[in-house]
Amino acid sequence: MKPDTKLITLGRDPEANFGAVNPPLYRTSTVIFPTLDDYDAAKKGTYKYSTYGRYGTPTTQGLEDALAELEGADHTMLTSSGVSAFTTVLLALLSAGDHLLMADSVYDPTRRFCDHELKRLGVETTYYDPTIGAGIKALIRDNTKVVFVESPGSLTFEMQDIPAIAREAHARGALVVSDSTWATPLFFRPFEKGVDVSIHSATKYINGHSDVVMGVISTTKTHYTRILNTHKNLGACPNAGDAYLAQRGLRTMGARLRIQQESALKVAAWLRDRPEVVEVRYPALPGAPGYDLWKRDFTGASALFTILTKPYTRPQLAAMLDGMKLLKMGYSWGGYESLMIPIDPTAIRTATPWTHKGATLRLHIGLEDVGDLISDLEEGFSRANSK
Ligand SMILES: *Cc1c(COP(=O)(O)O)cnc(C)c1O
Repeated sequence: MKPDTKLITLGRDPEANFGAVNPPLYRTSTVIFPTLDDYDAAKKGTYKYSTYGRYGTPTTQGLEDALAELEGADHTMLTSSGVSAFTTVLLALLSAGDHLLMADSVYDPTRRFCDHELKRLGVETTYYDPTIGAGIKALIRDNTKVVFVESPGSLTFEMQDIPAIAREAHARGALVVSDSTWATPLFFRPFEKGVDVSIHSATKYINGHSDVVMGVISTTKTHYTRILNTHKNLGACPNAGDAYLAQRGLRTMGARLRIQQESALKVAAWLRDRPEVVEVRYPALPGAPGYDLWKRDFTGASALFTILTKPYTRPQLAAMLDGMKLLKMGYSWGGYESLMIPIDPTAIRTATPWTHKGATLRLHIGLEDVGDLISDLEEGFSRANSK
């Protein structure tokens, strides 16, 4: 089966559900055990069903199975948010005295978790240049247990040579954990590229409709039990209703991404030719930084990218952003709607300083007509330029 067909069929069994096309929403805390033998089996972990709402329901399990198959993982676990996906994995794999290598371009809350919680627990983090590739070798210590990658970085879009990093990490007994949110489970096969554990924010394209916060952990067999135990101990379970919505969103992810990718490429190419734009950081745009790695390792692109513009005053930037009709300001991305936010990576870089002096804008391209989006941006630049 091709990925598009898998998106439609996985985790769905109408015959088992009175013919209903969509798997039903099972909402439960308590599971009833009919006999004492069943009750004992639950304690031993050999009962035929999930034994408690926090450990999953048929609703969450269907989605987990679908995502595992799509991404090529042995096992997938859902979590309460994308943040709880990476915190669960890092807490499972790291102990006091261990060392973590973290890409300098990583999602800001990941950095905060390392700098505050992991530091407090005695885990040391070193940030590395995301474009370091095999050069990571020089930073790996005897106590380095995890190398964390996020390719491309979801603010500044550096592409990482994950296979090269994985080779060096594995040679020294360290694991590779990937935040694969940007690529979605459709466009990157992490386990074929040397990744041991892959996490996603399902809040983004998997759900795709800006109404759910949820996370995904996918792993090979080797690390499953360890991560599952930490997941249980932390109680970082998803809400069953959110899992229902996310599986519904998943059905159209391929179709949405096809349109969004095409539109993002058009908008990015248009922006590159604008006199106000100094650089477009969209790895899928030929000639953009990281294009060759993207082409080698990925099979598609999502619709999130960043542009670096000439210097704008605050009133100029406000004139542009306040007046946008379609590209509204808002955190998150991966929904059906376009978004644009100003970002300043200066304070969240320690290994590779951010030196751009103009504005930096992150765009998410949604399902609107691409001509309307370009007009919106064109009018935005006019408002800024005429201030
Ligand atoms: C949004 C995001 C997260 C966190 O996901 P939530 O579901 O919002 O907790 C993690 N990593 C990346 C790259 C993200 O964009």
